[in-house]
Amino acid sequence: MDIHEYQAKEILARYGVPVPKGGLAYSPEQASYRSTEIGGSGWVVKAQVHSGGRGEAGGVKLCHSDGEVLAAADELFGKRLVTRQAPAGKLVYRVYVEEATDISRELYLGFVLDRASETILIIASGEGGMDIEELAVRAPEAIVRTVVEPAVGITEFQAREIAFGIGLEPGQISDASRVIRRAYQVFTDLDATMLEINPLVATGEGSLLALDAKLSFDDNALFRHPEVAELRDRSQEDSREAHAEDRGLAYVGLDGDIGCMINGAGLAMATMDMIKLAGGEPANFLDIGGGASPDRVLKAFRAVLNDTNVAAMLVNIFAGINRCDWVAEGVVAAYTSLSVTIPVVVRLAGTNVEEGQRIIAESGLPILTADSLAEAARLVVEAKQNAAVPA
Ligand code: GDP
Ligand code: MN
Repeated sequence: MDIHEYQAKEILARYGVPVPKGGLAYSPEQASYRSTEIGGSGWVVKAQVHSGGRGEAGGVKLCHSDGEVLAAADELFGKRLVTRQAPAGKLVYRVYVEEATDISRELYLGFVLDRASETILIIASGEGGMDIEELAVRAPEAIVRTVVEPAVGITEFQAREIAFGIGLEPGQISDASRVIRRAYQVFTDLDATMLEINPLVATGEGSLLALDAKLSFDDNALFRHPEVAELRDRSQEDSREAHAEDRGLAYVGLDGDIGCMINGAGLAMATMDMIKLAGGEPANFLDIGGGASPDRVLKAFRAVLNDTNVAAMLVNIFAGINRCDWVAEGVVAAYTSLSVTIPVVVRLAGTNVEEGQRIIAESGLPILTADSLAEAARLVVEAKQNAAVPA
């Protein structure tokens, strides 16, 4: 789960990482009021969307009067901000107003969970502001990588070494070491999977500030942090995925037009491969899990059809714990109650398969059936193409 920049900064501030003074606004008037409240003579108005690259997309605006703040916010509200990371755009309905910072250096500080080595990787650089991926290509030598064993935690020595490694002044080392250790604490305390402070800046007076912050959490650990779970903003998520997740379905939205409903993640992956091999493009990954009731199958069906790109659907069930008759009942119920008009191909195998096939056949619905996965994939791609040809 991702959160907004201002939320991440609130958390960092709570842990003692310095951040600029700022306030959240839900309207241009409120944004202008925030600038008066904050004081000073320069402000930055920042679109709050779950995406980086806002600066180059016009989502970060430097202003010099409360009139400029009002105008900047007015331009941002209600806009779909299209960034390099979010090509479909993300809706802006809150902006964060901050006092402008006098920047002397932009640095990079990131923490990621390295699942392969079961450690926490700290990535730092004396060159901040741009994407770390870009920097890794352009100047890989400018990146300092430090592995932290979570059972031991970060040592003061490691933090100081990072600070020296990114070329900070001797007078800034203690400050930087404190920022690095506190940020690490945020990361581990809250079960984050990614924390990126980009840029971490050195101001004109030489102090350090987190000017931007991105924080993602491990969904499977959210139950341990209700105060974090509550920060979720569904408007920033893929609406297809949010719908499915609310119903306990393992769903991932994709760009194709063949909807998939499958049991087991492995079979789902294999089915997506077979669809591609047959010349189609899957619209989603969906694993209905084991022992799925007809009602759960109906819900899964609805989740797939929620995607208006879906032009044909493939149901592929290899039932062990599942029951083909339950799946068939769910498919028939969904087909009728959801007034399905697109081609549907069902391939059933395993527990109660004869009963399942009988239910489909006796329903009288134009559901296509197949015996093998290869045949099912070929059939669904063909059916989609035929359906697309106007009669
Ligand atoms: P991102 O583009 O989504 O990563 O948004 P950031 O919050 O990182 O802002 C992008 C860039 O805008 C930063 O790298 C800075 O160069 C610039 N910027 C942001 N806030 C300030 C500020 O207070 N003062 C100045 N001078 N520049 C800022
Ligand atoms: Mn940034």
